[in-house]
Amino acid sequence: MAVIVQKYGGTSVGSLARIEAVADNIVETRRKGHQVVVVLSAMAGETNRLLSLATSIDKQPATRELDMLLASAEQVSISLLTIALIKRGFSAISLLAHQIGIHTDNSFGRARIKSVSSKRLLQALEQEQVVVVAGFQGQDDDQNVTTLGRGGSDTSAIAVAVALSAAECQIFTDVDGIYSADPRIEPLAHKIENIAFNEMLVMASLGAKVLQNRAVEYAMRHNMPIRVLSSFEPGQGTKVMNEDVLVAETKNLNPVTNIAHQKLEALVEIEGVEDHHTIASMFTLLGEAGIEIDMITCTLLNCCKYNVKFSVSRDNISQIDDILQKMTQKNGIRAIQYNDKVVKLSAVGIGMKSHSGIAGQFFTALTEENIKILLISTSEINISVLVDESFLTQGVLCLHRALCKTSDISH
Ligand code: ASP
Ligand code: MG
Repeated sequence: MAVIVQKYGGTSVGSLARIEAVADNIVETRRKGHQVVVVLSAMAGETNRLLSLATSIDKQPATRELDMLLASAEQVSISLLTIALIKRGFSAISLLAHQIGIHTDNSFGRARIKSVSSKRLLQALEQEQVVVVAGFQGQDDDQNVTTLGRGGSDTSAIAVAVALSAAECQIFTDVDGIYSADPRIEPLAHKIENIAFNEMLVMASLGAKVLQNRAVEYAMRHNMPIRVLSSFEPGQGTKVMNEDVLVAETKNLNPVTNIAHQKLEALVEIEGVEDHHTIASMFTLLGEAGIEIDMITCTLLNCCKYNVKFSVSRDNISQIDDILQKMTQKNGIRAIQYNDKVVKLSAVGIGMKSHSGIAGQFFTALTEENIKILLISTSEINISVLVDESFLTQGVLCLHRALCKTSDISH
């Protein structure tokens, strides 16, 4: 009998009616003969509600106490679901992280899971119980309650699935899978059947918010397949899996799996940077301020001066300006320009490793639409460009139609 771990997100347990529907779904899985461990997130909006209570008392609440507070939301959802399962005549038990032994480090608010004990979980499964686990929380070495960062119940679910050597970890959410582009922009976007862990990681860094990044990293490290499914409609969803297995199982690997886009980007251009030492200290200072730099280009002008361009998230601009203005006074930077009306468009696919000519098709598609490119970055499995935000829809459409051909989708 296979153990299946199912995780339900906030919208899936957002109301009592939704909790009852989730209970029915679990009953069905149980009736198929599977043992089920359920990991839950808080009811939709609850974590934010608690967060705003704390920040109304103190803008920067004590982190240990904030974790104590936020972790309580999952206690509500797991007990309500368990009540619903017991009402349906099933033996079920809800358990908090410390009752199972989900051990984390002590970085409150973004704790990392160190280990998960399978003992209590296996005991309950042996007694034919459905186990309902509180996601998002853990316990550090000093018995403090910790939380795993927003969206962290995805990681809890993967960690529990790994501890139980489950066949796969099913993540039920409000979308029915991962799409080849945002269906709200591209009506021809199709659902992807199988996607590799590293594609999913790149897509998350490009703005796709379906799974917590750490959850995908954890699953990749332990080779635990994830299935993203809708808790509202039946279907096979999208399986996120090991790249080698995917390549071996796929006959015609499509070079590009997905066209991702990220709004709210900004471009910073700095002219006349004195020398490479200045570049190094500039990025060091920005890094120390916690600013994440995305794409970077650097052009050497005559007599050793550089023009540097980089992209960041738009809400970092004023902080960056403070840092750069201080540097300007010392380092003779000639001009700094900010463009906060840009978006990033990307083509992602492990198939790019083995196909040539993708860059040609990518840039031809944009050129045919007269879309001016402001910055480029590439990796083994993606090509990204920064463009004016007015080109968002046109850009996604032309790239998707040129590179993600529905006729030869095989993954
Ligand atoms: N309840 C937590 C949050 O809102 C964890 C989760 O939803 O995964 O971030
Ligand atoms: Mg989530």
